[in-house]
Order: sequence, then C-alpha cells, then structure tokens
Amino acid sequence: MRWSERQRGMLQAMGVRLFELPASVPLPPPEIAAPAAVVRSRPSTAPAEAIASQRPDIASLDWPALRDAVAACQACALSQSRQQTVFGVGHPHAHWMIVGEAPGEQEDRQGEPFVGPAGQLLDNMLRAIGLTRDEAPPERQVFIANTLKCRPPRNRNPDPAETAQCAPFLERQIALVQPRLILAMGRFAAQALLASDEPLGRLRGRVHRYRGVPVVVTYHPAYLLRTLADKARAWEDLCLAATVVEGVSA
Ligand code: URA
Repeated sequence: MRWSERQRGMLQAMGVRLFELPASVPLPPPEIAAPAAVVRSRPSTAPAEAIASQRPDIASLDWPALRDAVAACQACALSQSRQQTVFGVGHPHAHWMIVGEAPGEQEDRQGEPFVGPAGQLLDNMLRAIGLTRDEAPPERQVFIANTLKCRPPRNRNPDPAETAQCAPFLERQIALVQPRLILAMGRFAAQALLASDEPLGRLRGRVHRYRGVPVVVTYHPAYLLRTLADKARAWEDLCLAATVVEGVSA
C-alpha cells in the first residue's frame, strides 16, 4: 500500500470519522512518523523467549499442525478453565500482524480474537487506515493473534509463566506470516514481544524489532474505550506503523 500525500490526507480525514478522534485534537502531520528510529530490544534473556527457543517441535509446525497444537495445549492451568483456544484469524501472509493480550469472555466463547467491544474499536481503527480482518489481499487483510491463546479466568492479567508457555505459539505464527510489521496492542503484548519491562508510554513512538520484524507499540483498544483522549495518540501510532510498512514495501 503506497500512499500519495493526497491519499494520506484522505485517510487522515477518514480516520477522524471512523476512528472518532476528538475534533479538538490535531492529527499528527505525516512527517511525525517519517524519521522512525529503529530500536533494538534488550537481549533475549526473558523467560518467554528462553522457552520459545526451547521448543523446536513447535518451531517446525505448519499452519494446520500449529492450529492443532494450540487446540490440544495443556501446558498451563488456563487449559482447564477455557471454553476453547483462540488461535487467531487473518491472512496467512498478512503485511500487518496485530498482537493483543489474551481472549476475553466473548472471544473464549466464539473462538475468535477481538470480537467484543474492544474488537469493534480495533476494526474501526483498522478501517481508518484501509485495513480489515475480512478476506482481502495480504496488504489489506491483517492477521490478528494474542499473546495468550486461552482466556485467563475473570480476565485477570496473564501471569509470566503463562506468557512464557504460550510464547512459542505466537513466535511460530509470526514466523509463518512473516509480516512487514507487528502492531503490539497494550502493555502485555508489547512487553512480551520485546522482552521488556518498560511502561507502554516509553515503548510507544519508536520502531522496535522482534526477530528482525519491525514492531510498533500502541494502546490496547479496551484502554482506548475508557480513555478517549488517547485515541489521538493511537492514531499517531497507526500513522507510524503505516509509514514503516510503506518503507518495507518500497
Ligand atoms: N483483548 C485482547 O487483547 N484480545 C482479545 O482477543 C480480546 C480482548
């Protein structure tokens, strides 16, 4: 997806409407995203990455086998409380990969990520930059996955052991998709992918790397539903991400 200045202006206007930005907040000028510094995350010493590299059995799976492995997983206690695993949806070679935290109640029931209110906002955010979860070519149809494939009871925060156990699945999904960009939504996704304990505010606004793939960090849609004022910042993050994808595709 290459955008001219005119198209970018139209998309920004569309973003105002579809993503319902507060009218008083100015949109970021296009150049805000241009000089994106690429930041290397800390060396991979975190437990999640350590476990991921210890699972060569998962690292060699194709899509159907990976899906089966996730569905059969009983590596942590979440397998006892889940209704079903939530594997992920989207184009198997999407240019954009969206990574969230963990399934909630509705996702656990339906088996698809981001189907509740946060998912509706995510769909609006995607639409504002010309993307979709519905069937489309790989530059338009995203792949959506979560850090955890099972719902934590009562939507509690994922614990580090659960994140570590599930990491090889996400790692394999990313290796199969080979996205041009990962958009990490929320603190848990960002910290898990980047093996970082920095707060979200410090991780935003830069381009990180996960196994060589550019990563842009933004707010979780559920947070944005509660904090309307930060939608403008989320829009900045999307503009940064789009600029990175354009750069990769150029
Ligand atoms: N929140 C997430 O992070 N993922 C989902 O799938 C739903 C809500």
